Amino acid sequence: MIDTHAHVHDPQFDDDREATIARARAAGVETIVTIGCDVADSERAIRTAETYGLLATIGIHPHEAKDAPGDIAAAFDALRAGAGVPIVAIGETGLDYHYNHSPAEDQRRVLRDQIAYARAVALPVVFHQREAYDDFVAILRETWDRATMRGVIHCFTGDAEQARTFVDEFGMLLGIGGVITFKTAEGLREAVRAVGLQAIVMETDCPYLAPIPYRGKRNEPAFVLESASAVAAVLGIERAAVLAATTATATRFFNL
Ligand SMILES: [Zn+2]
Ligand SMILES: [Zn+2]
Repeated sequence: MIDTHAHVHDPQFDDDREATIARARAAGVETIVTIGCDVADSERAIRTAETYGLLATIGIHPHEAKDAPGDIAAAFDALRAGAGVPIVAIGETGLDYHYNHSPAEDQRRVLRDQIAYARAVALPVVFHQREAYDDFVAILRETWDRATMRGVIHCFTGDAEQARTFVDEFGMLLGIGGVITFKTAEGLREAVRAVGLQAIVMETDCPYLAPIPYRGKRNEPAFVLESASAVAAVLGIERAAVLAATTATATRFFNL
């Protein structure tokens, strides 16, 4: 089992990171991808991955776009050169117009730069999209080459039509996490049924978005099993089948 999107290097785990990772492994989560959100955070992700045997990504979250380095490629090259663990993807990158912590124009520029970098170095991309669907899809239509690129829409919470666009038009995967367990998420459950098991991977986005029955508490990689159970119920299959298929998909996606 792979938690394809975690922030295990987050300060919320400073007091019990080792125990948290041990709980994940005991629950059968052998692989954790810890996700970078700006240059300094990506550096922390790499150091944490080195210490605990995790995988890391490097990226600039749309919230942090306004503080992105002028030359993102040079900054990413330096991070990769200094990494003692595999850097398995670029991101999270994308657009978030919900909070607008960075101006939309900065978000779009930094997204384009990261897609270009991922294409140049042949790494997959981890996308974050919130309340920016139209602009996001417009940029993908200009920049995305589904024949040569791999992408995942992490924490996908859209409807069936958006799900089909990402999967059928762009050849992407959907990252499914704690939201699938929420009572109000019927649209998301319909989206999962629309694209099917082969188009999804499992994630926590911990320490955020804990699934039921942990909702409101700090999330952690072991809880990915709760979301996998919810996916199994949605699709009417055994949880073991969800774990096997999504693990195989994630293994191919990150080229492990
Ligand atoms: Zn995100
Ligand atoms: Zn995240």
